[in-house]
Amino acid sequence: MSVSIVSRAEWGAQPWNGTPDYVNLSQRTEFFIHYDGADHVNRTGNSVPQAIERGHLGQGWAGIGYHFVVDQEGVAYEGRGWTLQGAHCPNHNISGIGVQIAIGGDQQPSAKALATARALYDEACKKAGRTLAMKGHKDGFATACPGGPLYAWVKAGMPADGYEPGPKPEKPAAWDGTSFPGASAFVLGKSHPAVTLLGQRLVAHGFGSHYKEGPGPAFGEADRSATAAFQKAQGWAGSDADGYPGAETWKRLLASPKSTPAPAPSSIVALNPAVKPGAKHAQVKELQQLLIKAGYGPIPGAYSTYYGPETQKAVARFHNKNPQHRAAGTSYDPAIGRRGFVELQKEAGRK
Ligand SMILES: [Zn+2]
Repeated sequence: MSVSIVSRAEWGAQPWNGTPDYVNLSQRTEFFIHYDGADHVNRTGNSVPQAIERGHLGQGWAGIGYHFVVDQEGVAYEGRGWTLQGAHCPNHNISGIGVQIAIGGDQQPSAKALATARALYDEACKKAGRTLAMKGHKDGFATACPGGPLYAWVKAGMPADGYEPGPKPEKPAAWDGTSFPGASAFVLGKSHPAVTLLGQRLVAHGFGSHYKEGPGPAFGEADRSATAAFQKAQGWAGSDADGYPGAETWKRLLASPKSTPAPAPSSIVALNPAVKPGAKHAQVKELQQLLIKAGYGPIPGAYSTYYGPETQKAVARFHNKNPQHRAAGTSYDPAIGRRGFVELQKEAGRK
């Protein structure tokens, strides 16, 4: 019986970050078993390959380095698959097929997981046209991987019987635009429409100072550090504040911020000369309030202390209506001037 494998498309893999090299099956001579790491793994399903992918992409790799991943339900997930070069054991990535069984070091593998891993081994031998050497990661590299129980199993000749295809998890649904999109939406350097909303909500909650540019669809270091700051502000620590949004982070971000900007004063004030396009300054919030109140909004991401592109666009709209306050010789002026700021405050109702 051939192995039932959940394809990359089915579990929601990100596109390769540079496609790995092709390897002819006749070049395979060995088969490596890996564990997930020291910590116990209690999850099953698509989140298993997704978490590994996140880690490996974060290290700058093309994607999951293992050829296949097997969870405790005995479901096999496609990583590099049969014909791509792996990234699981130096000097053995072409000759060796690498399979991770998603458990921690001293955790006992389930019978289902072992049966599936064995079925992958049998299929690999059939495809390669030879008996592949059975190995644990530590046979090719100085490491504790694959841990005691899995290494003993490899050395015993990978005994297993009764392979049955595991239940294939549901295909990830298209994102609905508001609910938590799943951890796979937040991978450094990768785009997902939910990342834009994440950034907008972080700005709305007062964490906009992490952004040098406005939030966008690619999950970047600014998103990660702003998310981590938001998580710490919830009183969370450790992996709960790692900067990768989970369902609870998402729920709290989409809720209304507790504090809104202080009500604007009613009398005209002077513009701080540090308030310039591209700068961060406390008075930028006030500028945004005035622009919106006087009808030059919307300003996506407001309110923040950052005089970013959206604030600049709103100032340019003010200048289009009041060209006498534009800098001489400019037709698109995103920089508010001292006199223009006074005029804007009048338009917003100050005296
Ligand atoms: Zn390993």
